[in-house]
Amino acid sequence: MNETLVIGAGFGGLALAIRLQAAGIPTRILEQRDKPGGRAYVYQDQGFTFDAGPTVITDPSALEALFEVAGRNMHDYVTLLPVRPFYRLCWESGQTFDYDNDQAALEAEIRRFAAEDVAGYQRFLAYSRAVFNEGYLKLGTVPFLAFRDMLSAAPQLIRLQAWRSVYDKVAEFIQDDHLRQAFSFHSLLVGGNPFATSSVYTLIHALERQWGVWFPQGGTGALINGLVKLFTDLGGKMELNAKVEHFTTQGHRVTGAQLVDGRYFPCRALASNADVVHTYQHLLGQHPVGAARGKKLAAKRMSNSLFVLYFGLNQPHAQLAHHTVCFGPRYRELIEDIFHHDGLADDFSLYLHAPCVTDPSLAPPGCASFYVLAPVPHLGTANLDWAVEGPRLRERIFDWLEAHQMPGLRSQLVTHRIFTPFDFRDELSAHQGSAFSLEPILTQSAWFRPHNRDSQMANLYLVGAGTHPGAGIPGVIGSAKATASLMIEDRDR
Ligand SMILES: Cc1cc2nc3c(=O)[nH]c(=O)nc-3n(C[C@H](O)[C@H](O)[C@H](O)COP(=O)(O)OP(=O)(O)OC[C@H]3O[C@@H](n4cnc5c(N)ncnc54)[C@H](O)[C@@H]3O)c2cc1C
Repeated sequence: MNETLVIGAGFGGLALAIRLQAAGIPTRILEQRDKPGGRAYVYQDQGFTFDAGPTVITDPSALEALFEVAGRNMHDYVTLLPVRPFYRLCWESGQTFDYDNDQAALEAEIRRFAAEDVAGYQRFLAYSRAVFNEGYLKLGTVPFLAFRDMLSAAPQLIRLQAWRSVYDKVAEFIQDDHLRQAFSFHSLLVGGNPFATSSVYTLIHALERQWGVWFPQGGTGALINGLVKLFTDLGGKMELNAKVEHFTTQGHRVTGAQLVDGRYFPCRALASNADVVHTYQHLLGQHPVGAARGKKLAAKRMSNSLFVLYFGLNQPHAQLAHHTVCFGPRYRELIEDIFHHDGLADDFSLYLHAPCVTDPSLAPPGCASFYVLAPVPHLGTANLDWAVEGPRLRERIFDWLEAHQMPGLRSQLVTHRIFTPFDFRDELSAHQGSAFSLEPILTQSAWFRPHNRDSQMANLYLVGAGTHPGAGIPGVIGSAKATASLMIEDRDR
């Protein structure tokens, strides 16, 4: 009964569990899948290693902080390798843009597209840095529990025009259409529509410029393994294949977690890293608080889903950059389709991951592993049958890649697999199969997002993409810091 439970071993759950265990709170993680990581799961197949999800590692200082609170050194657990360029951006016209941290090289790239936008970019960078200071450094790791917390942040948000969209703000500074895409697509990395998400999310640009883009040696899975090792080195316990069926309660307290396999774990406090709608609607669904919140949350706007195609080739394709974004023929219209249209568009934009460029050990000698993803509508926007659409989309994407980026791809294929909105729903218990939880619009952010500590259930907390500040590795690690501060404070009261 003395234990604290964390439901889910995503980046957020692991980061929280480490902070709790380091603070002397005996903690146990219950994870439904056979491996930790959540969206950062790993597939191994015929000598190929496929990181399932996050690949762009930013803000290494947030990761280092997890080791520091535990009195350890991150370098004893995992090695982060720099990725240069950060991304290569490509358009159907054949134009490319290498996006990097070197100011002179970046300005030279901008000049190739539109010389007059160099000055505009400099003003955009200054704006992005101002938002980064307010939105990330000051507010990214503190809980918003009371409306007055929101009110005290309001003057800064108003000054930074947070009600305007990412794209709108970028377009104020930059005129060239391709460059507007290049500096506005980042919110899609955390499930935000650049035309609807608050301009606060332009901070991602400053964040990347501040600390760079990194990739763990051995893949993102190696970073997850490092976090798990840190947690268990501290005495933490983790159960895999431990799907929670529901929470048990007494009055307005959670008393334990009942697993589908019959096991039961009592607790003194519980933090859920599972999808927020799933948490309230199902795990706490038999309690009036869970039923009411679950109903309200299910009506909120969810982020888009993703179609992900993992494949291993017997050719390394050394011409590729580690991260490539391939913009399709339409930008605004495609995003509108993904977020609001009932159906699958005929065109797509892609993110192509080629990790062997940085770490060849992720595939057998002479081979390379890849993944490519396309943002697609979640199941509430487009109720598609992904058992049919998935293989079709896979073929369309293979055709496109072979024609535009990877000649000979089909004849080099050793293995492939797909992950669709159905898998987000069924394997990760994600509401509507969303890839990033609640959409990060202003009215679903900060105080308006589900709180890090439930206001009615005395010992129930949230961590991960569905609570403040939101999705993405820096976001969920920030949420863990915010939630841990509350749990440690409550323990000491
Ligand atoms: C394909 C893809 C690419 C991405 N790329 C990037 C990137 O490059 N950089 C970046 O910063 N972010 C990226 N993101 C976003 C980032 O991966 C996520 O926002 C983040 O990893 C979510 O972490 P989380 O802590 O919220 O938990 P999750 O990873 O969602 O984990 C939650 C865990 O809870 C478990 N769980 C759920 N229900 C139960 C239950 N009932 N019982 C037990 N366990 C349960 C799940 O199995 C899961 O393991 C990407 C996301 C995806 C999907």
